[in-house]
Amino acid sequence: MKEIKRILIANRGEIALRAIRTIKEMGKEAICVYSIADKEALYLKYCDASICIGGAKSSESYLNIPAIISAAELSGADAIFPGYGFLSENQNFVEICEKHNIKFIGPSVEAMNIMSNKSKAKQVMQRAGVPVIPGSDGAIKDLESAKKLAEEIGFPVILKAAAGGGGRGMRVVEKSSDLEKAYWSAESEALSAFGDGTMYMEKYIKNPRHIEVQIIGDSFGNVIHIGERDCSLQRRHQKLIEESPAIILEQSTREKLHNTAIKAAKAIGYEGAGTFEFLLDDKQNFYFIEMNTRLQVEHCVSEMCSGEDIIKHMINVAQGLALPKQEEINFKGHSIECRITAEDPKTFTPSPGTISKYAAPAGANTRMESHMYQGYAVPPFYDSMIGKLVVWAPSRQEAIIRMKRALNELIIGGIKSTRDFHLSMMDNPDFINNNFDTNYLSRK
Ligand code: ADP
Ligand code: ADP
Ligand code: MG
Repeated sequence: MKEIKRILIANRGEIALRAIRTIKEMGKEAICVYSIADKEALYLKYCDASICIGGAKSSESYLNIPAIISAAELSGADAIFPGYGFLSENQNFVEICEKHNIKFIGPSVEAMNIMSNKSKAKQVMQRAGVPVIPGSDGAIKDLESAKKLAEEIGFPVILKAAAGGGGRGMRVVEKSSDLEKAYWSAESEALSAFGDGTMYMEKYIKNPRHIEVQIIGDSFGNVIHIGERDCSLQRRHQKLIEESPAIILEQSTREKLHNTAIKAAKAIGYEGAGTFEFLLDDKQNFYFIEMNTRLQVEHCVSEMCSGEDIIKHMINVAQGLALPKQEEINFKGHSIECRITAEDPKTFTPSPGTISKYAAPAGANTRMESHMYQGYAVPPFYDSMIGKLVVWAPSRQEAIIRMKRALNELIIGGIKSTRDFHLSMMDNPDFINNNFDTNYLSRK
């Protein structure tokens, strides 16, 4: 075991603050890096030291590997916590950390490599006995083979970028005549977003639920799960509301799902926190879609139901400690998270600017994960998420009531936010009755 004493957080915003809290509670030191655009961020006052790493553009700061490594060396950090987005799934970055004797708090380069290409990941998972959605065996070569394959699979199909993430580089194709246009537009979107236009194809599952399993592996080969999450409330394949547990699951399906995720993680010798994402059809069949080899935005709902601190587990396994036994993880009640973004609640167009008024919800089992404060200027350069409101209650019904109460307490002035969208969802009979799927909002 090599004790980690000082951790550099290679991220910003709410997840940087979230990490500072656990690092401090573990008695360790937190070092923050920031771009010029984030120099006024309040959380920089809560860490032990902070270092400016460059300009507002991500490429000049949060994606600037030499600047981040220099900051780590300068501050004497012995580990880097990557958060989500930015460099969290960058294999080159992990290798460079290793070369500089800085522990990357996350999986090995090998595990990351398998999962970074989503079509390759599917092949590996299929070989490990995990159910996958019928589709291309690996990447598709060209438009002609895509056409042929789509006829074989049967429409509708979905074209997906192998390097995809954040719901980008994906096109649903209803009929043969739409394929060509979809193919070129998905490819060019993937090229510009990920620098890689490799595409693969899947049967399009009609109106599925998105269910994922949180797992953590340690260096002794142990893998445990922290339950599952239902992330079916989406807009353009991006999650808006997440919950745990997924009450749509029958208990036997739930157990099968957890065991499948553990088996899958063991098959690749996975170390660290990760998430196996599945689609669930209306017959309780589930299919692997991808693995995220990092902490996810929605990890908090799993923490609320288990009482576990997932970042603490990540740090502990990174310093060579063994995980608790699965039997020691207990689940209770229901948790819901609403992603609050600086966007128009009707059109979802970004609304950066200065927050003139801010009041955070509080009270029993109410957790506001946010770096916001009154006077804070939301920069236009990054993701528009400005916070996550997370609640817990003994039942889903009570959690919805609590979320509504908490959203009503949330005041954000000066910019538009998606608070009112979430408030309307808490009154939506389909949401209340758990009667929705990943396409619910696109139909409305
Ligand atoms: P990303 O890497 O962008 O997160 P995912 O592969 O996880 O992409 O898919 C994101 C979302 O897109 C899913 O939650 C689901 O709503 C939709 N989706 C992806 N693949 C399919 C499919 N084969 N059939 C139906 N919906 C899909
Ligand atoms: P989660 O399941 O953790 O919610 P998301 O797909 O919503 O994952 O992504 C979380 C964050 O990471 C978002 O800010 C998103 O823009 C970013 N992100 C996800 N995948 C990628 C990627 N391949 N490249 C760059 N950013 C990504
Ligand atoms: Mg995904």
